[in-house]
Formats: sequence, C-alpha cells, structure tokens
Amino acid sequence: MKGSLFIITAASGTGKTSLVKQLIATTNDLAVSVSHTTREPRPGEIHGQHYHFTDTAKFIEGIQAGEFLEHAQVFDNYYGTSRQSVNQQLESGVDVILEIDWQGALQVKELYEDVTMIFILPPSQATLRQRLSSRGQDSQEVIEKRLAGAVTEMQQYVHFDYVVINDQFEAALSELKAIIVAKRQTLARQQARYAEVIKDLITE
Ligand code: 5GP
Repeated sequence: MKGSLFIITAASGTGKTSLVKQLIATTNDLAVSVSHTTREPRPGEIHGQHYHFTDTAKFIEGIQAGEFLEHAQVFDNYYGTSRQSVNQQLESGVDVILEIDWQGALQVKELYEDVTMIFILPPSQATLRQRLSSRGQDSQEVIEKRLAGAVTEMQQYVHFDYVVINDQFEAALSELKAIIVAKRQTLARQQARYAEVIKDLITE
C-alpha cells in the first residue's frame, strides 16, 4: 500500500524541526524528506541528514532536469524536494513528511490531490522573536530578515488543512500525531490495508 504525503509548514523559529524530529522518532513508518539547499550548513548540520547541501549552479541544473517535486527561493537561498526520493518512499509504503515553506507547499498541493497540509503557528509574535534570537546560530541581520518574513509566511495558513499552535511542545506533538493517525484511519487507507479482512466481514 502506498504511503501518504504530509506537508508541515511554519515560519522560521516556530519549533517545527524539533517537533518533526520527535514525531518521526515516535511514529512507525513515517519519514521526513531530506531537502536540497544552497544555504551554508549551520554548526552541527550534517550533509545528507539535515539537508543535501549543494551550490547554485548544481541546483539550477536540477531544476532544469526536473529533479525537484517543488522548489522555492527562501530568503537568499534555493530549497527543493527530490521527486525521486519522495516517490520511492511513498511507493515503499512509508508516510512522508515534507518540511517545506508555503511556496513549495502550494506547488505540491497542485500536484498531489491527496496531500495533508499542516501549518504550525507560534503562540505569539513576541514568542517567535524570542525563539529566533535565542537560537544563537544566525547573525542579527539574518534574524531580522527572518522575523520580517515570518508574518508573510504565517498569512498563508489559510491554504492548509490543519493548524497546530506550538505553545507547549508535548501538546503540539500530540496534536501532530493525532493528524497522522486520523489520516491512517481514513476509508481509502483502511480499505487498502485491510482488504481481505473487510471483504470477509461484509460478505453475507
Ligand atoms: P532553514 O534554512 O531555516 O533550514 O529553512 C528555511 C525555510 O526553508 C523553512 O521554512 C523550511 O521549511 C524551508 N524549506 C526547507 N526545505 C525546503 C524545501 O525542500 N522546499 C521548500 N519550498 N522549502 C524548504
């Protein structure tokens, strides 16, 4: 049975990456797609694990070759999702999360009818500013740029199916899990998973 596709989007500093990491660690058959980016690695980021780090020339070649399911420019860098890798994971029955920005999310929505789109919001602008500053990995200039972009990003929440507010980490994590579990119980998924059982149950 093919896996389901989920998109998780949030403004930078909302805590999306930590939530997704914990969600993957505690849920079976769920993976996050590793994106390609032209951004420089942050301290501690590993090539192939956090991102596939690449340069602009190679990224543009990839766009022209149709390698990306979606791609977008976020701040001054390119980000994109490998079409082949996502399709392979879905074909193998794994549910896949794309942790991408709103521009990419809307591109994928056009391509896949059955995609579950989740937007994570912070509890307030003040909290977002504090979280962005305390990360300590980016320069002040980058932080200011990201803050300015955050409001524009958050305005896009209306295009999504689900909204999770990340005030308390554990509560937000439970809500994300609930969305994944609910999707797994839908008619189409259950018919595919329990074809034989259901056939037997409803045969007179
Ligand atoms: P960061 O540089 O902080 O890791 O990510 C910046 C933004 O780019 C985040 O909103 C993140 O979700 C988004 N992003 C990461 N990977 C992709 C991708 O493959 N495609 C798109 N469209 N956005 C991405």
